[in-house]
Amino acid sequence: MHCYNHQKKEAIGLCRNCFKGLCQECCQKSEDYLACSENCAQKVYEVEEMNERAKNIYGVGKYAKRPRLSLSVLLFFCLGILFAFWGVSDMIHYNDYFSSYNIFIVSLGVLFLFFSFLAWKRTSKIGIIL
Ligand SMILES: [Zn+2]
Ligand SMILES: [Zn+2]
Repeated sequence: MHCYNHQKKEAIGLCRNCFKGLCQECCQKSEDYLACSENCAQKVYEVEEMNERAKNIYGVGKYAKRPRLSLSVLLFFCLGILFAFWGVSDMIHYNDYFSSYNIFIVSLGVLFLFFSFLAWKRTSKIGIIL
């Protein structure tokens, strides 16, 4: 394979963005990758940056050891426990199991726990940690 710009010269590699053959003279280094121009080097950099962020979000490679529980799951779970505990302890304390106020608080807790469960199911299915 020959250089895209210099037909006589042997290519030493390909531009990582547009895959043109490049000789020593035409190479632009972008981190560890070859690129034919400033423009391509910038694009290569952007794609690498995107990959790195995606790996972080999906917990791939060096990010694999991050906890798999998302913030929204934890938040809903804590709110659920808090409201359920609050409602139930009020019921016991006042010996009043059917006041609409206490039932409302407990229902809120159950609802939050349900949201937490939904969020957990959803995030563990796509493998996203957000
Ligand atoms: Zn290029
Ligand atoms: Zn060249």
